Amino acid sequence: MSQTVSAQPKGLELYGSSSRREPLRATGKRARALAKLGIESIQDLFQHFPRYHVDRRELRMIRDLARLAEEGHDGDVQVHAKVKKIGPPIRIRNSKRTMIKGKIGDESGEIDVTWFNQNWISTRLKPGVEGFFYGRLGTFRGKLQMTAPRFELIRDGKEPFNVGRIIPIYPATADLSSDQLRRLLWEALAKRPEILDPLPGELARRLSLVPRGEALRSIHFPDTREDVLRARNRLVFDEVFTLQLGLVYRKRLLERTVQGISHPMPDEDSLAETFVRALPFELTRAQHRACEEVAGDLNQKYPMHRLIEGEVGSGKTVVALYACLMAIDNGHQAAFMAPTEVLAEQHHLTVNELLDRAFGSEESRNLFAGLSKRPTVRLLTGSTPAAQREQVLNEVAFGDVDLLLGTHALIQDAVEFYRLGVAIVDEQHRFGVHQRKRLREKAAVGEPDVLVMTATPIPRTLAVSIYGDLDLSILDELPKGRRPISTELAVGDADRERAYQLIRDEVASGRQAFIVYALRDESDRSELRSAKSEAKRIAEDLFPDLRVGLVHGDMKSADKEAAMSRFRSGETQVLVATTVVEVGVDVPNATVMLVEDADRFGLAQLHQLRGRIGRGEHQSYCVLATDLDLDRGDTDPAIGLVRERLGSVASTRDGFKLAMVDLKQRGEGQLFGARQSGMPQLKIARVLEHQETVKQARDMAVRILDEDPELRAYEHQALAREMRDRFPDETLDVVQSG
Ligand code: ADP
Ligand code: MG
Repeated sequence: MSQTVSAQPKGLELYGSSSRREPLRATGKRARALAKLGIESIQDLFQHFPRYHVDRRELRMIRDLARLAEEGHDGDVQVHAKVKKIGPPIRIRNSKRTMIKGKIGDESGEIDVTWFNQNWISTRLKPGVEGFFYGRLGTFRGKLQMTAPRFELIRDGKEPFNVGRIIPIYPATADLSSDQLRRLLWEALAKRPEILDPLPGELARRLSLVPRGEALRSIHFPDTREDVLRARNRLVFDEVFTLQLGLVYRKRLLERTVQGISHPMPDEDSLAETFVRALPFELTRAQHRACEEVAGDLNQKYPMHRLIEGEVGSGKTVVALYACLMAIDNGHQAAFMAPTEVLAEQHHLTVNELLDRAFGSEESRNLFAGLSKRPTVRLLTGSTPAAQREQVLNEVAFGDVDLLLGTHALIQDAVEFYRLGVAIVDEQHRFGVHQRKRLREKAAVGEPDVLVMTATPIPRTLAVSIYGDLDLSILDELPKGRRPISTELAVGDADRERAYQLIRDEVASGRQAFIVYALRDESDRSELRSAKSEAKRIAEDLFPDLRVGLVHGDMKSADKEAAMSRFRSGETQVLVATTVVEVGVDVPNATVMLVEDADRFGLAQLHQLRGRIGRGEHQSYCVLATDLDLDRGDTDPAIGLVRERLGSVASTRDGFKLAMVDLKQRGEGQLFGARQSGMPQLKIARVLEHQETVKQARDMAVRILDEDPELRAYEHQALAREMRDRFPDETLDVVQSG
């Protein structure tokens, strides 16, 4: 019955699995140098794509160089010349550097050449030697010269390799130059006339894509600039296409095969709707939409896998609770995992408060046992006392707890649910894949519905590239009535003094303030000293008349919670803190945040921190203090980055915009990093730059899988194989969430 049609592989498979990859025939030092670049097979070598290309097709006459320089030619020039003079390396005065000076010439004229710190050149170049020289034009003491030109000498009979062509420049190492890589590629390509093209011909034609073999040849050895563009188009498409094929396939497979729990849609009297009616505010349109999407998912027979992306303060928690209540209404339990104790405790407070409004307090439930619909909520963290923990675990196992909130403590072995129906992961990027998976596995029967949430939002078109196997809800709207936060940079002591005055003024009118200190270094515990000693200075010298509190990560849990509740109650007016307050502090009366050494924080972190203020009806102020001289950003790229980071936080509260700046600064690798396992590497595609191609690839993937869900058709065999090869072992068959 089983009819396996296998496409005859024609030629070399670019993304072959490990068993089909052809090892490189390199040994010793060469092999080590290649391995350093991640090249171990022919396939790796072919996919060692150039960083960029330089056009060396045009040869210049030396006579013309002066005019070119005058016209402001920037970029390399290339001449065919003979060495006329070459000096020995000479030590530059007052410096460790050496310099070689020489002269090259062709029939039209001569030009000076100089190299720095390249003593070997004096042994390679002798007067009379002929070759091609390419480099940048410059002037020294008013005289035209070529600075540090690279060259290729003409030896008898051998055709020059790097001249008269468009030359790819490869990521290289000290032991293996771009030119050497180019030679290896030349030899390897010459030996392999056929390269498998897995795209059905009709599709390639419709998208005007060149064949893969041609693309591969042209990216490494183009004849024209158009060759490079066409090659790049095709190779980028291939990468994002198999990626999308895999993501969509994974999602569909899950929907077809994994048994989930179908919860009834909530009606008027349901817990979820009663809860929404009792909220002290109206849901935003975005929250409404997200709740509807979640309800639709929970109603399906297969498990929900949804990501909620939302601004800091956009009200994700309410949507998550809506999901929990739908499951609870249907006799299931809900788990809600947060990355820090402070956040878990804040959730515990908020959730109970909101549920009290809708269903009365838990105590009253005990009085009217059987009548009250009030869900039972428990908190479990690493510092829950043993006896209490024991009791919570029991209640959870017997199904007496409806909603279990907590930290990583939720995924310990000892935690067993009676009937877990929905799992929420807040701030999902702060958990590893395996932690998210373990929470899901807590369900005794059926796969639970999974909702993951993040406050570092990326636009939908981008999210498709990374989270393409999850459904996406975006909360792009802040609740009404939020007052703006004014954000300013404070550079140096005078500015800081003004920030202190601002704190005094706000506290005088009844508000509260945060002063946040940076972690100097994850491994370095000196942050504690600094927050601690600063708290002392602030309490005793700066604000002796104010009530100053301190909270940091190394405090005992009970002390931390005590410090937080003193701040919540208003007893503490100024809270000196480390980043433990980054998430999960909801004190609407706090209106000032002074971030010290703001340059040490990442962009997303600053945005999150700032989200602690502006939560109430009052105008709020955020001050980002730094001792760096930001003006030096013009010349010092590191400071330039800091300036851009702080500047963007100051100029916008739009998390999507900030996420893009962050992406630009840190590279998109981090996005894939956040997904961790189960995501193939991208070697040539840049999801930021190639969003249009991503969309096209997504559409194609959906269309093909609509027609042929298992990719069984003969013309899809090679694609299916490539898709499997690109996804790490088994990740296509395993449920991935977030
Ligand atoms: P985040 O999306 O950052 O997790 P939260 O869920 O913590 O945001 O919500 C932030 C604050 O806004 C909370 O105090 C919450 O009660 C409140 N909130 C949520 N939704 C609304 C709304 N529609 N209108 C007014 N306030 C809201
Ligand atoms: Mg939140």
